[in-house]
Amino acid sequence: MVKKRFTPKVLPVSERLRSFGEVVLGYDYETSVREASRCLRCPLWFAPCSKACPLRVKVPAFLEYIVKGDLEAAARKVYEDNLFPSITGRVCPQEWFCEGNCVVSKIGESVSVGLLERYVGDYARENGLDEKILAEMVSKNSGVKGRVAVVGSGPAGLSAAGWLRLRGYEVVVYEALHRPGGVLAYGIPEFRLPRSVLDHEIKKVENLGVEIRLNHVVGKTVLLSELLSEYDAVFIGSGAGTPKLLNIPGVDLNNIYTANEFLTRVNLMRAHLFPEWDTPISVGKTTLIIGGGNTAMDAARVALRLGSKPVVVYRRDREDMLKTTRRDEVLHAEEEGVEFKYYLQPIEFLGDENGFVKAVRFEVMEPLNELDERGKKKIVGTGRYVEIPADTVVIAIGLEPNRLLMEESGLRFNEDGTIAVDDHLMMSLPGVFAGGDAIRGESTVVEAMADGKRAAEEIDLYVRRKKGLA
Ligand SMILES: Cc1cc2nc3c(=O)[nH]c(=O)nc-3n(C[C@H](O)[C@H](O)[C@H](O)COP(=O)(O)OP(=O)(O)OC[C@H]3O[C@@H](n4cnc5c(N)ncnc54)[C@H](O)[C@@H]3O)c2cc1C
Repeated sequence: MVKKRFTPKVLPVSERLRSFGEVVLGYDYETSVREASRCLRCPLWFAPCSKACPLRVKVPAFLEYIVKGDLEAAARKVYEDNLFPSITGRVCPQEWFCEGNCVVSKIGESVSVGLLERYVGDYARENGLDEKILAEMVSKNSGVKGRVAVVGSGPAGLSAAGWLRLRGYEVVVYEALHRPGGVLAYGIPEFRLPRSVLDHEIKKVENLGVEIRLNHVVGKTVLLSELLSEYDAVFIGSGAGTPKLLNIPGVDLNNIYTANEFLTRVNLMRAHLFPEWDTPISVGKTTLIIGGGNTAMDAARVALRLGSKPVVVYRRDREDMLKTTRRDEVLHAEEEGVEFKYYLQPIEFLGDENGFVKAVRFEVMEPLNELDERGKKKIVGTGRYVEIPADTVVIAIGLEPNRLLMEESGLRFNEDGTIAVDDHLMMSLPGVFAGGDAIRGESTVVEAMADGKRAAEEIDLYVRRKKGLA
């Protein structure tokens, strides 16, 4: 068997630097067949790849159809479990899920499940198969079983809405922003997830009959209590969109952004196209990105495309960074020329006479021989300090759920602000379910989608019981 995986086409580095065009261009048909042929076809009851997938996609089964050249059958197999393969195929950290558990990795490189899922998803999209498959799935339901409101149109909300429609529910999604998609739209840049792909995936959910009401902030524009009186159940997929801040001197200086603001300006408000678009963005020659997660990689690669020199500063090392950051993003950032500095913890921002940041002061850290709860090395300060000049800073040290719904509803929340749910994803208020980052804190797209899918199942059971039908 071929031990090495087939590499996908990628945009040359020289073409990426000023372009927001997609970087990974994926497989063609022949390469997909060859890559899928590397799968050892583990039986589904055993397949560790499938068990490790939060959506339980039947990986060996859909790969077998690719090998046979039956792409429609491959798409149907994927759609049994995953409504958004073009998204997960692009953004899933497969190394933690399917590919990280692939049996082939014991003797060679794991099968590129993500790229194959993307290939099948794109084939279905480009050939109108996805709409056909979904129309068939939805037509299996006769009559409307009930009405459900979904709060938030990120991966959790879109997935819940889609699966609820497929179970025969009328669904209305309430989204606070003027554009649906959650982090997929405002956080993840176009060079990783093209807008045309995301728009199609959202349209697909709408074409199923889901209504999306934009500019509706639940807790303000419309209250949760109002939704509860109008619908049989509510699903909350409000995410974790509130940036964690660095409470150190100088944080209010100009040209210091939270990653959320920085990425939203570009991804959602098209600041890179200013003045054609209304929103500007100010970046200098050097942008320091503080943090080492997916958000930090995205911010660094956006800064690069805006013409700045990005330097990612992380308080641990590369090995620890890869435990919680998608491997491909780190590799692509490195090959694009993003600089990385490790074992530095920011302690002060220094400004010029006009109130703009000009440097950041860091304490040099060192590792201890102990691991924290995420398996990362514990670190301590050394008492040594360095200053790094920068005229732009992006703080990317994490996100937490916003507390708006807590204020309105008096529902039970955990100490870290995440929503408390029971084993059925139901909150302390009967009929209100939740999933995604809102219950997990910062997590992954596929886990949010898996929560949405499971919540649809739980809501279906809840509503049918309430109506005496189950
Ligand atoms: C920059 C960045 C890059 C990332 N990269 C990856 C990656 O490569 N791979 C990966 O797997 N994960 C990645 N993640 C994490 C992933 O995006 C999240 O885990 C996922 O989006 C969570 O989905 P969600 O639906 O729970 O929340 P979100 O995507 O945050 O969506 C929540 C939605 O709810 C809306 N909302 C919030 N409050 C209200 C309200 N009161 N009323 C109405 N609407 C409301 C928000 O506007 C938003 O649209 C990344 C995260 C960030 C920030």
